[in-house]
This record gives sequence, C-alpha cells and structure tokens, in this order.
Amino acid sequence: MALKLSDLKTTAHNDWCPGCGDFGILNAVQMALAEMNVDPSQAVIVSGIGCSGKVSHFVKTYGVHTLHGRSLPFATGIKLSNPNLEVICEGGDGDGLGIGVGHFLHSGRRNVDMVYIVHDNEVYGLTKGQAAPTMKLGMRTKSLPLPNINQGVNPIMLAVAAGYTFVARGYSYDVRHLKDLIIKAIRHKGFAFLDVLQPCPTYNDVLTKEYWAGEGRLDASGKMQPRTYKLEEAGYDGVVHTGEEEEVEKKVGQAVLKSFEFGDHTPIGVFYQNEFVPTYEDRLTARMPTYRSNPPAKQDIARPDGLPLTNVRKMIEELRVI
Ligand code: SF4
Ligand code: MG
Repeated sequence: MALKLSDLKTTAHNDWCPGCGDFGILNAVQMALAEMNVDPSQAVIVSGIGCSGKVSHFVKTYGVHTLHGRSLPFATGIKLSNPNLEVICEGGDGDGLGIGVGHFLHSGRRNVDMVYIVHDNEVYGLTKGQAAPTMKLGMRTKSLPLPNINQGVNPIMLAVAAGYTFVARGYSYDVRHLKDLIIKAIRHKGFAFLDVLQPCPTYNDVLTKEYWAGEGRLDASGKMQPRTYKLEEAGYDGVVHTGEEEEVEKKVGQAVLKSFEFGDHTPIGVFYQNEFVPTYEDRLTARMPTYRSNPPAKQDIARPDGLPLTNVRKMIEELRVI
C-alpha cells in the first residue's frame, strides 16, 4: 500500500520557533520517505541534542533521541546490527561538527550505508545562539556580544576529506529540491552526508531566509538575486562514473574547490558521489560470509529459560587475523 505523508507524521508537540528552517527539513524527510514508500517499521531516525534533535519525535518511524554528539556511533550500531534497516541520522552543526566531530570523521572512512543530515544554522540555537563550529570568522549575529573569533569549519570539504562517498548541500526553504537530495542520499550505496542551510530566525539574523532569497543583492533592475544556485543547473557533475583513480582525484579536487563558494554564490546539490568504494557492510561480508543473511539483530541471544546462546568464541574465531 502506498505510504501517505500523513502516515509519517506524529502528534508529538513541536515547539520549534515560527519560521525555523527545521520545519522544511522535517517536511523534506517525510516527503522523501513517503515518495520512496519506505516501510516505517524498517526505518530509524537517530538524532542528537539541539533544536534539530527533536526531529526523531516527529517522524513516525522508529527513532532514538540520543546524547550530544553521539548520534553517529548510535546509528552505526543500529545499521550494523540490522543492515536491512533504513537509517537516517540528524542533528545540528554544533552537535555533529563540535562535540561529535571525531565521530563525523571516522564515519566517513567507514562508509556505512546510511544518511547523515546536518541542520546547519551556524549557531547553538537550543542554548540561545552561541557561535557554532560552522560560523564564519568575524560574523556577528544578534546573539553574540562580539564578532566570532574562530574560523568556521567547512563541512563539505571536511566530509570529502573524511571519505564520505556522497556529499551534498540543500536549503531548508527549497523543500522539493531538498526532498530530491534526501532520496538520492538514501539510494546512494555508502555513507551520504547532507549539509542543509537552515535559517534560525531567532538567533541568527545574518543568514536569514531573506538573505538567501537575495536581500541586498539586487540586479540592475532592482530585482533580488538569490544567493543559492543549483549545481546541476550550472553544468557541474560531481558523480564518479568509472571509479578510475584519475577520475576520483579529479572529482574530489573539484568538490573541494567548489566547497569554498559561500555567501553571494552558494552552491546546493551534489558536490561528490562515488559508489565504487566498498561499504562497511561489504567489508564485513568479505570477512563473515553469513553477516548479511544472519546479522546480529536476527540472532537469538537467549534460550526461553534465559540461558545465553551467543557463541562469543565462534565470533572471535571468525574475526581472528591469521
Ligand atoms: Fe529553530 Fe533557532 Fe528556534 Fe532553534 S532557536 S527552534 S534553530 S529558530
Ligand atoms: Mg546549530
């Protein structure tokens, strides 16, 4: 039976501020899952701490609202225990690129087949707008007494360098484009990272919806020029088509160069995609041929009388390096 958008909505109370970009991302996730007809009982949203962390309460799939910066290891554990699940991890830029940045880097090189969506508003919204890791040097929002003293992290470049095999950026007020990107990220074979420009109208009065729509950037006729543009409409192709080393190097290089564009000319769309890298699940299967057919979540762990069935000795034997 086809899934309807309403099937993916919960009745949990939502106290996001009016006009928050989180609403657009939530809608796009629900629209993507509905369009792909993903069985909600086979999907899990794992979220961290922050305004965006509440998203796991609002999508009617399984969900875990976990610790600050720890959504990625949590999600990795869920996906590896049951590789048939659709696992989407979501959180803020502070959560994922501040306290959680170590997990962010190591998730890239593992290439587990799941999705990570970062709600990137450049502030810590839940705690009243302190500068988050993606805020640029010298930016001053209304919540800061002085301009930001640190350089901002470039999430796209960091993701490419860490080894993510799908790296893209969306904009929360372009919900249809974002929905299409989420579908591509879910279909991608490997770890897909999606940085989403997410206006926080309460604490970030610089990167607002009006800013991205082109306020203060007028053409000769006085018309506002949007500050985002779509990579696919600009003739950019981030996809690796042959997997040959030379092509991979070229595509990585062009994604890194593109990642420096920000402000008046900010690209959204797919910066880089490479499906030739084996996933972590492929690598595990090469070592344990029964991994996919009998993953940990499908195994009985105890007899009816409670005695454990786990054969730790056999598992260690399978993983032993000779
Ligand atoms: Fe959204 Fe900012 Fe309000 Fe948090 S503080 S709900 S990020 S607008
Ligand atoms: Mg944030």
